[in-house]
Amino acid sequence: ADYVKGMGWQNARITPYAPISLDPASIVFHYGQTVFEGLKAYRSKDQSIRLFRPEENFRRLNQSLDRLCMPQIDEANALEGLLELLKVEEEWIPKLEGNSLYIRPFVIATEAFLGVAPATTYQFYIILSPVGSYYEEGIHPVKILVENEFVRAVKGGTGGAKTAGNYASALKAQETASSQGYSQVMWLDGVERKYVEEVGSMNIFFKIDGEVVTPAINGSILEGITRKSIIELLAHWGTPVTERKVSMDELAEAHNSGKLEEVFGTGTAAVISPVGELNWNGKTMRINDGITGALSKKLYDALTKIQTGENEDSLNWITSLSPT
Ligand code: PMP
Repeated sequence: ADYVKGMGWQNARITPYAPISLDPASIVFHYGQTVFEGLKAYRSKDQSIRLFRPEENFRRLNQSLDRLCMPQIDEANALEGLLELLKVEEEWIPKLEGNSLYIRPFVIATEAFLGVAPATTYQFYIILSPVGSYYEEGIHPVKILVENEFVRAVKGGTGGAKTAGNYASALKAQETASSQGYSQVMWLDGVERKYVEEVGSMNIFFKIDGEVVTPAINGSILEGITRKSIIELLAHWGTPVTERKVSMDELAEAHNSGKLEEVFGTGTAAVISPVGELNWNGKTMRINDGITGALSKKLYDALTKIQTGENEDSLNWITSLSPT
């Protein structure tokens, strides 16, 4: 769909996947005025198509749009458009268990203008890409490096929005971490470098002495939809999550006294990613002997079974579409 200031969004259409043509002076190329989303469509055993909380993605898209001075979309309309697109492209939704269709909605500033100001024209796209199982060989723990030099987002910055700049600022740290054998970096706050924010493309949870805690949303952490779902699921099970500040000192102390029982990341791609090792200031904390914890496994199973239709959708998270 296209947006022109004063005229709103119009001309929503479905076209074959192809390169797009933009003016080289388009604002998106120079000043990063762009936001995106990521969600998945799963196929259930009866072949129906299941989307996991898509309305949350379009709501978050609007929050990101607002932060980047971009025009709001009509959330219900966008969801309707996505469902239409999935009907047309149904053959691309994998039938193989564990596979899914990744959905990437995004909005870019298309106006040609070499000056720093919000654009007056935009385009909204939704592209699709089939993805294989995140865990080809079963769920397994990852190694994570706590980042001390670089920061992803600062107080008052764009960290809470899903916008390109946050990922660009993360590249340098991510590259160093992967060259040292870590799968992702864990970000600390940009003021004191003391409190945990999140991990590369996941939010993070800790089980400390029986209590599940996660860093509270503070404006610089992305408000993950998987994070929100885990909090709701655990509340539903009668074991509420505490959302609060979590410092590295607290984690190191808990680890030393044997109370850091489990660490896991949450995100659309991995759903739950158990952490087997955290490295901070050259010191390695091994978590749960480097094996997947019971809670991580339980949450992974519960969430993936709701997503694929194996378990009942008791929290009303699924939008389903009948196969054509
Ligand atoms: N934090 C960041 C920086 C991310 O890119 C993602 C992935 N969207 C997440 C957290 C997890 O969010 P979600 O559960 O909505 O995928």
